[in-house]
Amino acid sequence: MNQCNMKASIDSIETMSLVDGPGIRVVIFFNGCKLRCKYCHNPETWVKRDDNMSVDEVFDKIMRCEPYFRNNGGVTFSGGEPLLHKDFIIELSRKLKKQNVHLALDTSGVGDGDYEQILDLMDLILLDIKHTTNDGYKEITGRSIDEVEKFIIQLNKSNKKVWIRQVVLPGVTDSKEYIISLKNYIKKINNIERIDLLPYHNMAIEKYDKLGIDYPLRDLMPMDKQICDDLYKFLQEK
Ligand code: SF4
Repeated sequence: MNQCNMKASIDSIETMSLVDGPGIRVVIFFNGCKLRCKYCHNPETWVKRDDNMSVDEVFDKIMRCEPYFRNNGGVTFSGGEPLLHKDFIIELSRKLKKQNVHLALDTSGVGDGDYEQILDLMDLILLDIKHTTNDGYKEITGRSIDEVEKFIIQLNKSNKKVWIRQVVLPGVTDSKEYIISLKNYIKKINNIERIDLLPYHNMAIEKYDKLGIDYPLRDLMPMDKQICDDLYKFLQEK
């Protein structure tokens, strides 16, 4: 097999995840993200550091877990924002596809604007919706929603399966009105297989404190799981 020494900045690799796509998955957490979501669980991945792992090193590590990939498992590219490591992921994915590994991309849709090749190699896209309006999006992430719109256009062209993920944030995205706007917003996305409403929690506070970063939602209580379940039922019924 062709060798590839291209490197990327990788924060960590988790080998037995059950929450980042179907089956048991290896999750690659890349460093670097243009957004600053107020509830981000992974602030340690915001800044791109020195490239520290090559395509071949990551490939070898992944293939050691190959027995776990039976029953729908595979690899999920996450972060940070994996779209910022597009070329690396394309090279790695080409190698993994030759081994028939199922590939998922966990993304907020904010990269450099050109996503055709990377989408082409994926089996599943886990798309994080931050908010359905530009104002709400800006309030949560600090940036305009425009880049996500570009991603959605290319995602639709790719015809890949999509799982939608929405963090339910008390006082922001936890109303029935918001859920209706979510339902309307995602109508423009093709091939949605599943929608997850994820209750906001504040378990990352310690990480922020250790990193010396201000946690903007310090006074916000975690989202009530029952309310979240009720909103999910409402979403299904609507
Ligand atoms: S897009 Fe993801 S990694 Fe980036 S700030 Fe938001 S939650 Fe964190």
